[in-house]
Amino acid sequence: MRLKITGSIKQKNRFLTDIEYIEGMEFYPEGKGGQLGDLGSVGEAQVLEVNREGKLFLDKEMTAGEYPYEISLVRRDEIAKNHTAQHLVSAYLKEKYDLDTVGFRMGEEYSTVDFPSLEIDELKIKDLEEAMNRIITENLDVEILTYTRKQADQIECLRKTISDKVIGDIKVVKIGDFDLNACGGFHVKQTKEIGLFKVVNYEKVKKTLTRIYYKAGNRCYEDYYKKHKIIKKATTQLSSTVEELNDKIDCLLDDSKTKTKELSGLYHNYSELLCEKLKVNAEIIGENKIIIYKKNDAATKFFPKFIEDEKYSLIYGENGNFTVVSKAINCGELKSNLEKLGYIVKGGGNSTRINLRIDANIEIIVDIFVKLL
Ligand SMILES: [Zn+2]
Repeated sequence: MRLKITGSIKQKNRFLTDIEYIEGMEFYPEGKGGQLGDLGSVGEAQVLEVNREGKLFLDKEMTAGEYPYEISLVRRDEIAKNHTAQHLVSAYLKEKYDLDTVGFRMGEEYSTVDFPSLEIDELKIKDLEEAMNRIITENLDVEILTYTRKQADQIECLRKTISDKVIGDIKVVKIGDFDLNACGGFHVKQTKEIGLFKVVNYEKVKKTLTRIYYKAGNRCYEDYYKKHKIIKKATTQLSSTVEELNDKIDCLLDDSKTKTKELSGLYHNYSELLCEKLKVNAEIIGENKIIIYKKNDAATKFFPKFIEDEKYSLIYGENGNFTVVSKAINCGELKSNLEKLGYIVKGGGNSTRINLRIDANIEIIVDIFVKLL
């Protein structure tokens, strides 16, 4: 296949390239009909995206002239499988539950279809998956029929009415006797090509819709491979079978919760003893008692309980993250004085308590603090 490059403009780190086809099929634009666009190559350059006008974003600048080009047909096949699956999902949910498709989006990882219902539950999802995989195995023919606009408007059993925006001949996709819908995207020739279908998630969106996330074809196998690997590792780590996995995780989470509670109790008691020691060792400057603690551990959480802020000022922290609690100075002033010295200070608080994130050691903060007394 050959095309002619007629111009190229740099846009950020890509090159928007004007082309004219000489021989071969055209690149499919990104987002047309909710579908992914083609990728491929032109000469030495990779095609990163095809815009709606059919211009190519290339990864390098190409001088004007004729080049051979390729379109990734493997990718197009996967798009066709996932796109045809959408026809089937929409048709099945319409037939079985009278739900119209109100949105469709195909992504690199998964595709989504939106339905105006909040009643879609696990049972319906399972039913949809079973029906989809059954239709795939039935190997229905997928035919592309071309009609004039007038002829197309007379077809009675189209799943969706044709938009007025569509001009020229209309392509109608017929899947066995199951679905008839106008569409210009890529489709498989027989449903068996789709291989496998799986809903990977569903959720309520925009208050009234349910969004179904699915994968079809190789994406499904890749997803299964990836998840199988993760589950296999988890079962080895937890010495469990797949069936026991959730119970084991529940046990671990319960255990972790209990231990966190116990640890918090221990830190509480430790903090009480620590605070007694810190108070005895407090620095006394005039009438002020200053406690300095060069750590940021969990014991500090309980300091307000054991250190009376009427009697003591408190400076603690490490690794550029400090807290100052004091009624002897204005803590906001401490921050601005550090900034005046050229430090970049993040964090905040009020006049009696402030958190400082600063590239300095605690001695600098103590030094400025003492000057403010
Ligand atoms: Zn289609």
